Amino acid sequence: MCRSTVSPPHHESDHVSGGSDETIVYILTSGGRRIPAHAKILASVSPVLESAIDTPGKHRSSEKTIPILGVPCDAVEVFVRFIYSNRCTEEDMEKFGIHLLALSHVYLIPQLKTRCTKALIGRLAIENVVDSLQLARLCDAPDLYLKCMKLISNSFKAVEETEGWKFLQDNDPYLELEILKFIDEDELRTKRTRKHLQEQSLYFQLSEAMDCLQHICTEGCTSVGPHDKELSKNMAPCRKFSICEGLQNSIKHFANRKKRVNGGCVRCKRMWQLFRLHSSICESPDSTCRVPLCRQFKIKGQQVKNKKEVARWELLVRKVVAAKAISSLSLPKMEAQEKPRSLEDGLNNHVSVAC
Ligand SMILES: [Zn+2]
Ligand SMILES: [Zn+2]
Ligand SMILES: [Zn+2]
Repeated sequence: MCRSTVSPPHHESDHVSGGSDETIVYILTSGGRRIPAHAKILASVSPVLESAIDTPGKHRSSEKTIPILGVPCDAVEVFVRFIYSNRCTEEDMEKFGIHLLALSHVYLIPQLKTRCTKALIGRLAIENVVDSLQLARLCDAPDLYLKCMKLISNSFKAVEETEGWKFLQDNDPYLELEILKFIDEDELRTKRTRKHLQEQSLYFQLSEAMDCLQHICTEGCTSVGPHDKELSKNMAPCRKFSICEGLQNSIKHFANRKKRVNGGCVRCKRMWQLFRLHSSICESPDSTCRVPLCRQFKIKGQQVKNKKEVARWELLVRKVVAAKAISSLSLPKMEAQEKPRSLEDGLNNHVSVAC
């Protein structure tokens, strides 16, 4: 079926008998098709073909034939066309993408490999992902390999139902193990990212709470302000009123607390920690800072002996200071996929209660 004779792409067949620059070799396909091509062009694109051309044949006088077997004749033809033009169509990729990737690997043609990898990534689907993964592994195509792994990891239930997966289970236990290991690690990575985003979101919330605390204690807001300043009755809510309002209520609650109960109430503890956090990041001289307990904490902070607790607290302070710097540069705020359960819970994860 593959007996048609083929001319060298973009070249006239009357060059066949030319000098050494025009030496023609024949590529023999699995269907018996002989594709003529210019030795020099093949050699310039593929070092493997170059060495095949340079290897002397059994019969010196006979024409040179290079067999490219194991892939469809038409795929070899597209392959030769690519060598001449550095191009292939979407339709070629659709039909022969996997064969061309294998050829690009065997004949060391990186530009074709890149083209095939892109095309195959674009066509990845549940039904072909296992085959594509095996191919990516065989052909050393890391981008394709990673995309396949990700898709398998994200849609494992569906992939498990495919013929490709069943075949792999029966025939390639090592790859199966590799995939299962990747899925485990991928889940771990996702968890770590989620935790990181939750923490980032907490640091941003704390940094905003610090801004509000400063603003409440210096300018005053709707219901709480510095003791020596009259609050104006019809004050409009400030810019961060959603945080500010809760904070003012907590300050009122903290200020009206009866004698500190051992163990204390959660709300008071949280307020206590926010004052302490303020003191840790406060750079104002003691005499000018209007935030309650700022000075006391600064003095007390120097006396804390528990190294672990100090290190944990310092880490929290550094993170909040960094979040504050980012906010003040007006960079887009990091959107957490999941918000921390609450400022309180998040804070309690970081610090032991000191009140
Ligand atoms: Zn306010
Ligand atoms: Zn309380
Ligand atoms: Zn202060």
